[in-house]
Amino acid sequence: MSICPKCNDTHWYAYDENHAKICEVCCTHSDGWWKLEEHYGKSNGKYACKTGCGVVKAYEDLYEEKIVNVTVYRF
Ligand SMILES: [Zn+2]
Ligand SMILES: [Zn+2]
Repeated sequence: MSICPKCNDTHWYAYDENHAKICEVCCTHSDGWWKLEEHYGKSNGKYACKTGCGVVKAYEDLYEEKIVNVTVYRF
């Protein structure tokens, strides 16, 4: 296993003096994904990592990457 170059394997990094965020580089997104709907429009079809790392993917990307831990919503 290589050490994450962004967070040095702490899974967090400071993006300014007062704030830290979850590292999106080594986030496994293992909590799944929630659908961005209210803020982005119903047909947007984008999903954000539930962990809060800030990564957003289209449903097609998740499907192609065979990520199964996606909360399924009806369109
Ligand atoms: Zn990291
Ligand atoms: Zn994530």
